[in-house]
Amino acid sequence: MDTGQMLYEGKGKKLFLTENANEVLVEFKDDLTAFNAEKKGSEQGKGALNCEISTAIFELLAKEGVSTHFIKKLDSTHMLCKKVEIIPIEVVVRNVATGSLIKRLGIDEGKVLPFGLVEFYYKDDALGDPIINDEHCKILGITQDVSELDFLRSQARKINAILSAFFIERNLRLIDFKLEFGRDSSGHILLADEISPDSCRFWDKDSNEKLDKDRFRQNLGSVKVAYEEVLRRILNK
Ligand code: UDP
Repeated sequence: MDTGQMLYEGKGKKLFLTENANEVLVEFKDDLTAFNAEKKGSEQGKGALNCEISTAIFELLAKEGVSTHFIKKLDSTHMLCKKVEIIPIEVVVRNVATGSLIKRLGIDEGKVLPFGLVEFYYKDDALGDPIINDEHCKILGITQDVSELDFLRSQARKINAILSAFFIERNLRLIDFKLEFGRDSSGHILLADEISPDSCRFWDKDSNEKLDKDRFRQNLGSVKVAYEEVLRRILNK
């Protein structure tokens, strides 16, 4: 793909300018990182799998009325998206306790939470993405308008309802996931970034087998096979 000037390179994606000032080209990389990039790896074909999985999920969410940055998929590893200014909050939704939640609160791994828990983390690698609340957001100047945070929470809950129902029909439990939002040139808040097994945890409904980046984080092997299985279930219900 003939790309324009690179705007930004992140851990899992590169962003390029296009001839349209309101659009960017997103390239999905094969690189894998975990634990704030202390653990690094690569899995050939992972970028293409995440590009296809994210495309299917963004299309589903758009159909359900969620505003996203996604415009269209261009080839196996590239999508065209609306250019947004990313709000530096990672919005995490949890249905089942695992990962950092069990370490922080001592909840048993696998406990089904009584409701979808929405958390905010400050997107700052140097600080290790600390958990924050609405008042921290105000002090950090992330938003002066706290109702924006209510909007992020309501979008996160809506997305959780749509995706949990979608995946359970495909024998996948949506355990938790991370969202990022951005503001477009008119100030509208859009869902951005990606939604893939890099940013979600999926467990098989029957066996609870992990089919996401935890296979890399925990050295379980078969990372690509797991991502392929998630895509297969998305495509052939
Ligand atoms: N997550 C993510 N990027 C991050 C941190 C978390 O995509 O920088 C996702 C992670 O894949 C999981 C959810 O957010 O689906 C909750 O992650 P958790 O806080 O348990 O963190 P971790 O176990 O990754 O440290």
